Amino acid sequence: RIYLDHNAGAPLRPEARAAMIDALGSVGNASSVHAEGRAARGRIETARRQVAALVGGSADRVVMTSGGTEANATVLSPLQRVGGGMLELDALFIGATEHPSVMAGGRFPPEAVRTIAVDREGVVRLDDLETKLAALAGEGRRALVSVMLANNETGVIQPVAAVAGIARRFGALVHSDATQAAGRIPVDIAALGVDFLTLSAHKLGGPQGVGAIVLGGDLVSPVPLLTGGGQEKNARAGTQNVAGIVGFGAAAEAAAADLGRAEEWRRWRDGLSVLPGAVLVGAGAERLPQTAALALEGARAETLVIAFDLEGIALSAGSACSSGKVQVSHVMKAMGLGDALAASVIRVSFGWETGRDDIDRFDEAWARIVQRLVPGATRAA
Ligand code: PMP
Repeated sequence: RIYLDHNAGAPLRPEARAAMIDALGSVGNASSVHAEGRAARGRIETARRQVAALVGGSADRVVMTSGGTEANATVLSPLQRVGGGMLELDALFIGATEHPSVMAGGRFPPEAVRTIAVDREGVVRLDDLETKLAALAGEGRRALVSVMLANNETGVIQPVAAVAGIARRFGALVHSDATQAAGRIPVDIAALGVDFLTLSAHKLGGPQGVGAIVLGGDLVSPVPLLTGGGQEKNARAGTQNVAGIVGFGAAAEAAAADLGRAEEWRRWRDGLSVLPGAVLVGAGAERLPQTAALALEGARAETLVIAFDLEGIALSAGSACSSGKVQVSHVMKAMGLGDALAASVIRVSFGWETGRDDIDRFDEAWARIVQRLVPGATRAA
């Protein structure tokens, strides 16, 4: 089998597996004062340093969660802890192509959530953000702005540093969901200038069910979604998942070492865009090196996914989160793709365990499948 669905979930890296098996032998609760508890806490602190290092953050500003979804749901709150006090925000501005866990708006009431338009390449329109923020600031109100670093369906990279620069001028806080970007492109939280970054372990070869909020400075911290014990510096209650967190740390460290493969990945990715009949979505934008959203006029994505599955190749129709549903992806819609073309998009996403042979096998399967389904398709010039 060939697995080209890393954006839905990357296979567990051997480093993460080994670290997790070892951590499963860990005894006790990381909050306990005895030696066993201290040892568990030590394992978590090592992982915190590894995760922080991947994004240039500081270990004591990493809040472990149950995944990217929980990290997003926690950060997207109209109430924020700032300095010693609380800050109330009036609106949430999100990019039009965000992940469903951001589109859901977190704890903001639905009427406080506003969308920032994207252009045809899927890049947020900074003029739209600025106009909307200025109008809000004119009314003496403040916002939280949430724009993802890279899109899960297309790999399109957003100008998050520029977003943060504009947001700051209007006193807004800034969040970026870096779930798909971390481990694929260099991420530096200080250079991005955001208050919060979301990460998820399973996209970079760690276990499912673990993620983190990385905080940009020492002023802002999230109001917990899960309340109870004071774990994770009062930002996320609940006994920590030691083995999961340890696996996340090991995967983050291994993913950082993999960043040097980006050039090779980019060449493989770019080879996909010239396959017969393929129309690359977001071709004009900067994109992740290991993601390609390919439309094929005259085909349906569900049919393609099954055809590739029968060839021994796993990939997704659009995003895994929205596949299975018949509706067209909100990402493709926001980018202005027609319904028929949008319904033909498959996503090829690879990563740490992918070899050149896998890409070659995909190319051969594509040729066979396209020949059968859309006999007239030709190679792009
Ligand atoms: N954000 C993005 C951009 C994602 O792709 C995903 C995973 N589909 C998530 C958040 C959610 O992360 P998790 O699966 O860890 O809840």
